[in-house]
Amino acid sequence: MKLQTKGKINLLKPKIVILGAGYGGLMTATKLQKALGVNEADIVLVNKNDYHYETTWLHEASAGTLHHDRVRYDIKNVLDRNKVEFVQDTVIEIKSEEKKVLLEKGELAYDYLVIALGGESETFGIKGLKEHAFSIVNVNAARTIREHIEYQFSTYSMDQDESKLTIVVGGAGFTGIEFLGELVERVPKLCQEYDIDQSKVKMYCVEASPTVLPGFDPELVKYAVSFLEGKGVEFIISSAIKECTPEGIIHGKADEEPQEIKAGTVVWAAGVRGNSIIETAGIESMRARVKVEPDLRAPGFDNIFIIGDCALVINEEINRPYPPTAQIAMQQGISVAKNISKLIRNQSDLEKFVPDIKGTVCSLGDHNAIGVVYGKKLVGTPASFMKKVIDNRSLFMIGGISLMLKKGKFNFI
Ligand code: FAD
Repeated sequence: MKLQTKGKINLLKPKIVILGAGYGGLMTATKLQKALGVNEADIVLVNKNDYHYETTWLHEASAGTLHHDRVRYDIKNVLDRNKVEFVQDTVIEIKSEEKKVLLEKGELAYDYLVIALGGESETFGIKGLKEHAFSIVNVNAARTIREHIEYQFSTYSMDQDESKLTIVVGGAGFTGIEFLGELVERVPKLCQEYDIDQSKVKMYCVEASPTVLPGFDPELVKYAVSFLEGKGVEFIISSAIKECTPEGIIHGKADEEPQEIKAGTVVWAAGVRGNSIIETAGIESMRARVKVEPDLRAPGFDNIFIIGDCALVINEEINRPYPPTAQIAMQQGISVAKNISKLIRNQSDLEKFVPDIKGTVCSLGDHNAIGVVYGKKLVGTPASFMKKVIDNRSLFMIGGISLMLKKGKFNFI
């Protein structure tokens, strides 16, 4: 089956196909619909689901502190249907030489392609992780993690198996720490609900590198660690997870005997790679991430742009890639929309993408956080306030004030 774009298709109009309606893809689509007239281009947005989810809120849905419906919204609500056609389908393959994309239910030809398919969990080949650990990657995964933890707690009284009350988080990066921040809020409620003595619950954070939240200010890291420790989290640092089994994990430091932790729940939060679709697209990549040109095009392709977690942009100051973030994905979406508009209008002065990092805030539950915003260090309520401002801003940037009011976070205190 060949998918048709709108009935009024003009064959002379270039066709822009955007893959993925996450932060990068949806930003590209909403900016292009403002920038281009109906007669200038056909724009098609493809996404697996009919909803967009706030990936940066998934740790809350996973812990069960926020319902998963709060983290998603209908994609069509933010699209101008006269300008953007939405196709709900799954991308199977990108045929870059033939300028077409194979979908589960058809195919799409393109003149310009934007790949914004997001990231996947990177397990680094660690035995058993794919099979036995959870990863916080999408709404379905978040819902499964929440239900799994609740099931462990709810069935504890039947066999008193204390491993059911043990949760291991692999990785003390951003995602792992934010998830633990939610867990320490959720666990007391679960204990109350299922008549469990909270001292029986164990929460571990196992991290291979010698630091928690690498790259963060040490003073802020200290604050986060002592907050989480105070709520019952045990950090096991400089110890790598070597295997995940149906019973838990085996971990160990370089020169020590491996240790076992029996755990009913293991959440792997230590690695991100690009989308594996990239690896069969005929585009050079490393862990499915493409080192893009300054104008965000794929090397060797003048009509393919790659953004978000699928793109690698080097921070020239330290000669290392910027970490994949929603902040950068959205900024890239804005930049790509400008560049495609220029190409369509035969302008050759494409914008070079330079991230404008306004700050980073790591939440520690609903009312605590650490962060650096515009160079200023914040902890506690002010940091948590800023986190909600950032979350609301991302809704505003894509869907305007109405989306922000509908989905935003306003429980500031
Ligand atoms: P995404 O937003 O992940 O969107 C990808 C889209 O593509 C999704 O809609 C997906 O359904 C769709 N898709 C995937 N495969 C297919 C397919 N084959 N066919 C069709 N559609 C497909 N970043 C920050 O800046 N600040 C934070 O505080 C922060 N916190 C985070 C907390 C957590 C728990 C996690 C997991 C990440 C966090 N990040 C944060 C990182 C941030 O979420 C990502 O960098 C960002 O989502 C990347 O945006 P993207 O547009 O590349 O992909």
